[in-house]
Amino acid sequence: MDEEWFRKDYERAVDLMNFVRRHGTMSQLEADFISEVLQRFNRLLDTRGPNEAKRSIDVRRSRSSVDGLATQPSYNPGEMDYQLQRFINVRDDGTSESTTPHEQRLERFRKLVHAVSFSLRARKAARNRKAASASEPQSEEVFNLLRFINSWHDFNVFALSTVSGGNELELTATAVFHEHNLFEIFSLDVTKTVNYFHAVSKHYRKNPYHNSVHATDVLQSTHVLITSGLGEFLSDLEKLAVLLAAMVHDIGHLGYNNPFLVDTKHDLALRYNDQSVNEHYHACLAFQIMHEDPSCDLTSSLTENQSKMLRKIVVDIVLKTDMAVHFTMLNSFTEYLDNYGANVEEWDEEGRTLARAMIVHTADLTNVSRPTHLATQWGTRVVDEMWRQGDEEKRIGKALSPLCDRETTSVASAQVGFSNFIVKPLLEQVGRVMDVGFLNSGVDAYVAHYEAELAKEQATDKK
Ligand code: AMP
Ligand code: ZN
Repeated sequence: MDEEWFRKDYERAVDLMNFVRRHGTMSQLEADFISEVLQRFNRLLDTRGPNEAKRSIDVRRSRSSVDGLATQPSYNPGEMDYQLQRFINVRDDGTSESTTPHEQRLERFRKLVHAVSFSLRARKAARNRKAASASEPQSEEVFNLLRFINSWHDFNVFALSTVSGGNELELTATAVFHEHNLFEIFSLDVTKTVNYFHAVSKHYRKNPYHNSVHATDVLQSTHVLITSGLGEFLSDLEKLAVLLAAMVHDIGHLGYNNPFLVDTKHDLALRYNDQSVNEHYHACLAFQIMHEDPSCDLTSSLTENQSKMLRKIVVDIVLKTDMAVHFTMLNSFTEYLDNYGANVEEWDEEGRTLARAMIVHTADLTNVSRPTHLATQWGTRVVDEMWRQGDEEKRIGKALSPLCDRETTSVASAQVGFSNFIVKPLLEQVGRVMDVGFLNSGVDAYVAHYEAELAKEQATDKK
């Protein structure tokens, strides 16, 4: 019985090793992990006698490895998660070849990205019960894109989504948490945290716009806004909450806006009594995930008070992403700025609550401030989703909602209108707290792009 148990574990370790080999390059961390697993089994073997151990280790197994790994019913990605946890918890021991603190930090970041990419790829292979394709992207490519995690202009979420095989949210969240030292500050259980990121990502639907790529975009935008001055007043716990809120703020979105859900008497509208239907659903789902599955409970290391506070802040922020409260929020924000000045630390609790929500709300709307080649993709996606809702409204004989008629609404007009009437006035106020030059230049270029498109459309119409 004992022997049978050991033989299975040993085979699994070899499968793991071959799995990594199949992916081409192997990072140091992956190599270390594999050798550690093997050493563990070696030690077990040792207890059974050195000769027998040596004979077993020398066995060359030719069976296809990845297939083997994926179809092993007892395969448990927890092994890799264990390694992840260990990696995060062990601080740099100074043995790194890198010299400057910056280089050491970058090296640590590289290892982290490799570890998480590896873990995600292995989960995917196990889930699909098939070999990962030879063309599956490598974690080095992911790392090269995540190096721009702090940049508004150079972070390309679409490219990251492609090279990471759809794991952009988990990887970006890991990188952002790393940037803010949240793993260390709150002693977060890395396995549970990455599990949570993964679960959140999987709960986003494949809508044209409200999907995990949008969540990732808003998360990274929130991160940049925080580090550019809009989040200077935040405590560590508030930072954690704001980033979490950004990540989950549209989770489970069905691709239909609130008025549509209310008018069609959708189950969710009934459940939430027509009040911020989507947003209540997102906030609910975000917490359901961590409460229903303890292996996804990112908050497990927090004190009860911290958990309570975190939940309160996240729910508040997510509910305030409802566009129905946009103008009310902007007016209150303006009043606070007029009455208390630009230093949010001097605002009262109600003001701070508002300021926290304004960070994610601003991140949610400033896709138009990204470099034009990225912003146009967002514009096209958001309008595409509106048009799909319009198609559904037509099909069920309902009056078409604004911007939802594909026959009469152009992407260009929707984008110029949204940028000029929603985003620019918002940035005017946000600009009283932080330097918004990079956001303004982005939206100006975007508007210029679509104004030129509009002029072309109008010229064609006249012919
Ligand atoms: P959310 O649904 O949480 O993403 O709320 C943000 C809302 O802002 C979206 O539902 C859209 O209605 C609107 N929005 C965001 N970006 C754009 C854009 N580029 N063009 C038009 N509307 C946008
Ligand atoms: Zn959103």
